[in-house]
Amino acid sequence: MQAAVVHYALEPLAVELREVAVPEIGADDVLLRVGAVSVCGSDVHQAYNTHSWRVSVPVVLGHEFAGTVAEVGRVVKCFREGDRVVSETAAEVCGDCVLCRTGRYNLCPHRKGFGYGIDGAMASYVKVPARCLHRIPDSLPFELACLAEPHAVAFNAMCVNSMIRPGDLVVVVGPGPIGLLCARMAALAGANPLIVVGLSSDAPRFETAVRLGATHVVDAGRDDVEAVVRGLNPLGADLVCDASGASRPLDLALRLARPDGQVTKVGWSPDPVAIDINPLVQKNIRLQGSFSHNFPIWERVIHLLDRRLTCPEAIVGMTAPLEGWREAFTAMHEGRVIKSVLIP
Ligand SMILES: [Zn+2]
Ligand SMILES: [Zn+2]
Repeated sequence: MQAAVVHYALEPLAVELREVAVPEIGADDVLLRVGAVSVCGSDVHQAYNTHSWRVSVPVVLGHEFAGTVAEVGRVVKCFREGDRVVSETAAEVCGDCVLCRTGRYNLCPHRKGFGYGIDGAMASYVKVPARCLHRIPDSLPFELACLAEPHAVAFNAMCVNSMIRPGDLVVVVGPGPIGLLCARMAALAGANPLIVVGLSSDAPRFETAVRLGATHVVDAGRDDVEAVVRGLNPLGADLVCDASGASRPLDLALRLARPDGQVTKVGWSPDPVAIDINPLVQKNIRLQGSFSHNFPIWERVIHLLDRRLTCPEAIVGMTAPLEGWREAFTAMHEGRVIKSVLIP
């Protein structure tokens, strides 16, 4: 048996530390000894029952993790006991559809992820299909390696699903962990000016945004975002990334984008909302959703993390043992830390 952070019912605060069985692995799985697992905004949403996706309970939370291979299944060839790895999040995909067969398995209609469809890594051990694993260098500690997943989300949104050229005016709305990492990826891609938009409650996150490369931060509750953007370029922004956890800011994004510009939406929201969609047509805007990530993106973000190019330590505000999960979640929920990391 092992202790695990379990989401057990679809109601607020239905999460507790429970004893569960150590998983038994199949022929093509490995058993991973979890070295570190970071808390995602989505874990916090599940804990408060404010998530926008289907969750099967009971389920062990945690999909951002790194660790050491403790046991390998019968047909696993590429990994051995003792290997240091991070794991992708698509715990289950069909393997047969055109998306799976072309490497876009993150979009497989049968995809199930760790922590909401399949038991995740907020435990000592987690069962992982070997195809999900990436080796990590010894120079990359587990506490940083576990951040590969949100890095991959941000890289996919800004560097695969959007196009940024040096000198592009880029706006990121929503300075949560994903928004901040999107801003960092944009900065690495050459965005300048780079504007991060938040609310007054985001004040501590604005400092982090500047550390990560934002040239301007705007409190949308106090300042006129549109005036700031048009002061820099009267036509508007080349790219607006909506990383907020709400639907409404899409309206703002469509207004801020320049004619022939791009809007990329990476934040989820449970609220359907009516917005003026006409600027999309009138300005010939490319509106793009961005979901998850795939193999080449992971290889790239492991490199970025290992080179410390994304300032990953800037977003981690708390490290706690598994027993400290409640405070780690609460601190993120209350905005006291951007991201917490658990060490099982
Ligand atoms: Zn996540
Ligand atoms: Zn498939």
